[in-house]
Amino acid sequence: MREWVTVFVGIGANLGEPCAAVLNAVQEMAGLDGVAAVRRSSLYASTPIESSGPDYVNAVVELKTSLTALELLAQLQAIESKAGRERPYRNAPRTLDLDLLLFGDSVIQSATLTVPHPRMWERAFVLLPLVEIAPEIVGATALAQVQGQTVHRIVS
Ligand code: ADP
Ligand code: MG
Repeated sequence: MREWVTVFVGIGANLGEPCAAVLNAVQEMAGLDGVAAVRRSSLYASTPIESSGPDYVNAVVELKTSLTALELLAQLQAIESKAGRERPYRNAPRTLDLDLLLFGDSVIQSATLTVPHPRMWERAFVLLPLVEIAPEIVGATALAQVQGQTVHRIVS
């Protein structure tokens, strides 16, 4: 029996119907074999930072999984594809982006996966939803570092 690991996933969308895409992605994750106890933050709106196009809708999800990190990444990418995700160029606007932020205490550096997510601590659109559902993970110093970024809660 594999052990169940607590995982955080960052969700972003800024094309099509981003709120619906984010909520649908949460449902899809909850429906995966080997995934349980899915909890999501409120939805937030953020101005694109390294990307472009309309404002993003963001959220963070906590879940428990018995999958390996690479197995979960593959499932997240399948959900992105179903949502019509295309990658015309780096940081392009997207219908759905699912980033593996934290996978238990694992530190992973492989060709296809870096965990903890290397840019999560620079991004208010990750840290604000994350602190809402996991305040023990995000300290005041981390929040202070992203306080100049425009992010606001839109839907509970
Ligand atoms: P980004 O989210 O950085 O804008 P993409 O969503 O297009 O870019 O992902 C590009 C690649 O990043 C994926 O094919 C995946 O293999 C890799 N990757 C590395 N670490 C992670 C992670 N922690 N979460 C999601 N994808 C990751
Ligand atoms: Mg991504």
